Amino acid sequence: MSNLIALTCPSCGGRLEIANNTERYVCAHCGNTHIVDPGERAESLAKEVDELKSVSSILRLKDEIEVLEHRRSEIDQQIDKPRKLQDQNDTLVGLLFMGSIFIALVFVANAIGHLISHEYLFSLGHALAALAALGVAWLAKRGRFAIIYPQASADVLKELVQIDRQLALKRRDLDQRQRTGDGMSV
Ligand SMILES: [Zn+2]
Repeated sequence: MSNLIALTCPSCGGRLEIANNTERYVCAHCGNTHIVDPGERAESLAKEVDELKSVSSILRLKDEIEVLEHRRSEIDQQIDKPRKLQDQNDTLVGLLFMGSIFIALVFVANAIGHLISHEYLFSLGHALAALAALGVAWLAKRGRFAIIYPQASADVLKELVQIDRQLALKRRDLDQRQRTGDGMSV
């Protein structure tokens, strides 16, 4: 808090700043001597207290935002790992699926070829192999071969949503305070 208070000269209306423990002052504009009005002194001090409160609430908001952002990046790292594993896993399952379909088609073609040349036993064998390959494709599609990967718990995801909501509110609040703070530099 500064040691000055702002007041208005009762004689000429000039704006003055005087030491806040001054009882009596000479106006720099008109030269008249006045006694400090206690009401005006109190008002000037109250205004300064308000400004300080506003500054401290901005600082507190900034601290809170920083804490939330830190927690958010922690959660991001926690979630990122399973997400990458999931992507790899999806690729593997996709390859397995496509490969099995291809093998099934080859066996179907062979089964038909053997059937035409009356090699019924070979034909049956290849038909069964085609069915087996289709079965593998079906299982892959259903994720039966999914690699076990750690999943972000529902609690963490819920926390993430809450953090994002709080961050949005606090950032907006900070923005407003800084704008109404009249160019107050913090
Ligand atoms: Zn004056």
